[in-house]
Amino acid sequence: STALEFSHVGKRYAGQAQAALHDLSLQVPRGSRTGIIGRSGAGKSTLVRLISGLETPDSGELRLQGEQLTPATRRRLQERTGLVFQHFNLLAQRTVLGNVTLPLELRGAPRPLRERRARELLDLVGLGGLGERYPAQLSGGQKQRVGIARALVTEPALLLADEATSALDPETSAGILDLLRRIQQERDLTLVLVTHQLEVIRAVTTHVAVLDGGHLVESGETGEVLRRP
Ligand code: ADP
Ligand code: ADP
Repeated sequence: STALEFSHVGKRYAGQAQAALHDLSLQVPRGSRTGIIGRSGAGKSTLVRLISGLETPDSGELRLQGEQLTPATRRRLQERTGLVFQHFNLLAQRTVLGNVTLPLELRGAPRPLRERRARELLDLVGLGGLGERYPAQLSGGQKQRVGIARALVTEPALLLADEATSALDPETSAGILDLLRRIQQERDLTLVLVTHQLEVIRAVTTHVAVLDGGHLVESGETGEVLRRP
């Protein structure tokens, strides 16, 4: 079954001559680790904003777990996606624990539940015991671990990582990619990794889609796509 499906999606920004995405059709299998790769301008950020409901397509449709993303369903469906950002997007004035609990606070979840779940996730990402620190006291890799815990706190079905290791050195990146792979397997999530780095695709993904100039140029199982001439 399909975690995420784009059908003939088109998107052009106001004032731009070229569309950012042209007639994009793509299926992300449930339980896969799917990479979206392309160089700058390929349309990756646009795709992320469409999945996260921050932009709407001009044409075509997007489905999450079979349900169409529309203005009417957007708020409910947004909850099914956890987002991990390139620059972590942590709040400097909140502790690590406070950053992880924030999405649950915004949903009105009671404090004991928020804190219990956030502490479980901090253990999962290897930061148990660092909950009372502030982001400025953490390394880049630790900050991204906090970002991953925050993305998981609402128990999404889909984890969407947007250039999640692009700001990190190679060794730290490898640790974060291993963590994402382990979490995807243990929690039976669908992981979508958006990247411009082929190493990321090789290291983690089961499936890959290649974008260029807003067009899907290749897609399939990673092993097969990488073997094609
Ligand atoms: P990336 O490739 O990492 O998305 P970019 O430099 O292409 O980085 O874009 C950075 C931000 O600027 C993104 O939010 C992108 O959508 C926005 N952006 C890119 N191109 C334009 C443009 N021509 N006009 C306005 N905003 C743009
Ligand atoms: P990528 O993330 O792969 O670099 P983007 O989705 O940011 O690609 O960009 C795809 C195209 O859309 C580029 O031509 C970019 O300049 C344009 N674009 C992206 N964001 C905006 C925006 N907010 N306003 C206008 N044009 C944009």
